[in-house]
Amino acid sequence: MLGHDDVRQWLSCAIAARRVAAAYLFTGPDGVGKAGMAIQFAAALRCTGQGGWTCGRCGECLRVARGVHPNLRVFTKPADKTEFPVELVREICDEAGVKQLEPGARVFVVHDADRFNESSANALLKTLEEPPAGLTFVLLAANVADVLPTILSRCQPVRFGALNPAQVEQISRSWENQPVNPDTRALLVRASQGSPGRLKRMLEYGTWNAVSGFLETVARDPFAAAEKLAESVHEAEENESRRERLREALGVLSAVLRDRLAGALVPQAAPLLARAAPGAGGPRNADTLLAALERLDDLRRRVDGNANLKLACDAVALQWPA
Ligand SMILES: [Zn+2]
Repeated sequence: MLGHDDVRQWLSCAIAARRVAAAYLFTGPDGVGKAGMAIQFAAALRCTGQGGWTCGRCGECLRVARGVHPNLRVFTKPADKTEFPVELVREICDEAGVKQLEPGARVFVVHDADRFNESSANALLKTLEEPPAGLTFVLLAANVADVLPTILSRCQPVRFGALNPAQVEQISRSWENQPVNPDTRALLVRASQGSPGRLKRMLEYGTWNAVSGFLETVARDPFAAAEKLAESVHEAEENESRRERLREALGVLSAVLRDRLAGALVPQAAPLLARAAPGAGGPRNADTLLAALERLDDLRRRVDGNANLKLACDAVALQWPA
């Protein structure tokens, strides 16, 4: 794992000083490496080596890495739910209270901490505040602004920044479905916004092709562009995978708009997508682009909720500043 050296060092110091908090909240862009770091942290807490972090070789490290260590548990919001269900929180709390099979540190990794509602958050508070001895919670969330204050105030915050293009490039080097053309590759890395996880999904879903097709068409014929986008989304069979694909496409479109906005503000330093993405010759008025970006963010939130995907594709095409 590459990048986030500051976070690794900070957590390593906490272990060395025996000052590990009861609960951490890892926040930062989706796919940037928060979950990977949580697993490494769990391994580091159990490691029998001497390095102060995970050695990657001892039995403890290997069992954690393979996902078979009973003292590491990972909880994720079910894919078909938009909010973290209170029933799952009760399971987490019950399990926290059960006598553990192996002594020593335990780690509960909880994804989607920005999807708690009032009742699921309330159900977790007591355990989060005073977990049984040796248990550490690591909560993960893309956006700290979406985490309820009651959760936020009980966790030690840990921020994950975006990785730089060279780091994303290096992590992704061996992955499949890479574009052969180095210029296209650079565009994809830029569109990932410093998130290897996002790049991986873009490659898997063919997001860049879908977005390129959209951008090439939208000025001339927004309805045809909406149709192309909807078709690429509907290549997936299940509704939740379709939602996921549209979410990725909107994320890439948002990256394009951000670069175009930066280019509008400082034309001599226009970032890559503003110069080289299809449709880069569109409007350069900063107010227009900012308004479009806000509408797109709003649409992304509705797609996260339960918006009709076909209508969302129409909306993004009709509102696009082409
Ligand atoms: Zn080890």
